[in-house]
Amino acid sequence: MIIAIDGPAASGKSTAARALASRLGLTFLDTGAMYRAVTLLALDRGIDPGDEFACTSVAEGAELSFDEDGKVLIGGLAGEPMIRGPEVTRHVSQVSAISGVRRALVQLQRDIAASASSKDGGGVVAEGRDTTSVVFPDADLKVFLVASPGIRARRRADEEGRPDLAAEYEADLARRDEFDSSRTDSPLVEVPGALRIETDGLAPGEVVDRLVQAVAKLRANRAGSTGGAGDPSAGR
Ligand code: C5P
Repeated sequence: MIIAIDGPAASGKSTAARALASRLGLTFLDTGAMYRAVTLLALDRGIDPGDEFACTSVAEGAELSFDEDGKVLIGGLAGEPMIRGPEVTRHVSQVSAISGVRRALVQLQRDIAASASSKDGGGVVAEGRDTTSVVFPDADLKVFLVASPGIRARRRADEEGRPDLAAEYEADLARRDEFDSSRTDSPLVEVPGALRIETDGLAPGEVVDRLVQAVAKLRANRAGSTGGAGDPSAGR
């Protein structure tokens, strides 16, 4: 099963996707962490984030994987917390807009999903900006999470233990959203048919509950259409 969740920065995607994956026994795939890892590698090597050729070659050569907690590993070593640092956050949207970088990472994301799906009952809960539109256009469930800018900034500032910086976070999130939504390759879009959840008034657990309900409904519909278990009309 493939579940794809997209939405703007700090809309609650990671928290929801991680918890959903754990509830359903699926693999959590944080695609943003992969773009951050490539950005970190490029910056560490003194590469200009605007150098498309060099950034593409970093992405193509990056040895990215995930540990059991869904945290990105770079060459087998922990990428956290460095990938969340301010320098990476400042440049990640620029690096992510490079088509060569996207091509390399999308391939890796599909490989990870294929490997997870090859196990009985396996699959992924992927989250990012283009997982519903480009990476997994045939996902079993597509979700678009939204929250108002002020709420997103406050959540992010609280997570970082810096509630005093909420206004600064809001400006940074707006800048990234604008960049991510207006780029030519794989912009952030709400695809038709995606389940839209507005998370402003919802606790993280409530978001996950809605997702679990959506998956249960999907499974029930499928069981119904194939005449499988749970189908009240099965055997008639
Ligand atoms: O999800 P997170 O905020 O960590 O993502 C960091 C950045 O990575 C985003 O602002 C976006 O520029 C990029 N990204 C992307 N496509 C994805 C996931 C993230 O371009 N699927």
